[in-house]
Amino acid sequence: MPASLVVQKFGGSSLASADRIRHVAERIGQTRAEGAELVVVVSAMGDTTDDLLSLAGAITADPDPRELDMLLATGEHQSATLVSMALHALGVKAISLTGAQAGITTDGRYGRARIANVEPRRVRAELDRGNVVIVAGFQGQSEAGDGGGEAETTTLGRGGSDTTAVALAAALKADRCQIFTDVRGIYTADPRLVPDARQLRAIGYEEMLELAQLGAQVMQVRAVELGWVNGVEIEVLSSFETAPGTVIREDPLVEQRNKVRGLAHDRNVAKVTLLAVPDRPGVARAVFEPLAEAGINVDMIVQNVGHDEATDLSFTVPRAELRRAEGVLNPVVAELGARGLTTDPGVAKVSIVGAGLHNAPGYAARMFGTLADAGVNIEMISTSEVRITCVIEEARLEAALEALHGAFELARPDPVDAAAAARPA
Ligand code: ADP
Ligand code: ASP
Ligand code: MG
Repeated sequence: MPASLVVQKFGGSSLASADRIRHVAERIGQTRAEGAELVVVVSAMGDTTDDLLSLAGAITADPDPRELDMLLATGEHQSATLVSMALHALGVKAISLTGAQAGITTDGRYGRARIANVEPRRVRAELDRGNVVIVAGFQGQSEAGDGGGEAETTTLGRGGSDTTAVALAAALKADRCQIFTDVRGIYTADPRLVPDARQLRAIGYEEMLELAQLGAQVMQVRAVELGWVNGVEIEVLSSFETAPGTVIREDPLVEQRNKVRGLAHDRNVAKVTLLAVPDRPGVARAVFEPLAEAGINVDMIVQNVGHDEATDLSFTVPRAELRRAEGVLNPVVAELGARGLTTDPGVAKVSIVGAGLHNAPGYAARMFGTLADAGVNIEMISTSEVRITCVIEEARLEAALEALHGAFELARPDPVDAAAAARPA
């Protein structure tokens, strides 16, 4: 019987020091000793990516995107080589590869490149030589000719090592794809903020994708998408303890369980309001087209009822993009003859998520009522089939999460979860 092939990814906090790297290497060594072929994807150590970003920021306010990606990619080069050396020290054959060496090609968008193709020929060859293959996550290489240029190092966006792991698991047709992190798995809410949060034993791709999009950083959005499209079951588990994790997979039981599966929150939000913009056709285009051209993602949009032929227009942008958004919008305000522009970086989004929400009336009302009882003011609302999101004051975020977690009884074990846990992975 051919050996099973396992892809394991270790996040930054799991690799934050030499000691932790040695611990991870021991764990990898054990899996290897059980006979599996192993591809290990690593993130940069601890806060390395943040540190590199602030270093670049200390040099210039406007770093060149190509140079920035070259810089950020070094974080993962570092950890990949160190994990490989730690395995050598344990007598385990291993080799580290960059994203490019692992055959990961991307489009040319620096800082948020998308994987175009995975050609893991070298990875396969190294496995055949008996090596554990350590791949630097979060990076790839653009194809020569994309945008007219040479092949360049690119990075996949924050949290992108998750995507490297799932893409390799799909390309190698791995038997397992395991994401090791600093919590035991996927919870009903961020366990760092909600002490009552309950670990889920399994969650469907759709609900996980929604949680990720709404701010649950435990899995990168692209990784969940890729897993879904390619049918890769993703196991999320702790690198610090041996405990059962959470499996992300197709979920046939969606209709039977608690309609609210989890909460997500996002602090990377700022609110922008254009005051008294003229209420006539073409205004929304005049506001949102330049933002789109600047690559600024506008999320929730609320246009108030107009009076005196003018209306207030509010929307959210990522907090990190607020300064840029103001730069883009100031001339627009002048051009339109609006009264002005106000911004509020002190907001956050809180969402309830569940694939069964759309055919269950009353959930919106319960969410708004719960927030009202907790004294939390709702500034904006948006809904989709699988979620309801409110923008609130950031200072009230933890109170809001706790109240919603209680109101939707998320700490209570769901009988369907017990059945899912009993099913072999
Ligand atoms: P890594 O460095 O391993 O990639 P991340 O920091 O990216 O780890 O993701 C893990 C963190 O995600 C956890 O420490 C936790 O605070 C956060 N998180 C947010 N929402 C959830 C959730 N629903 N379930 C589990 N973790 C969550
Ligand atoms: N090191 C990168 C980051 O901090 C990628 C990752 O951790 O997945 O975003
Ligand atoms: Mg991560």
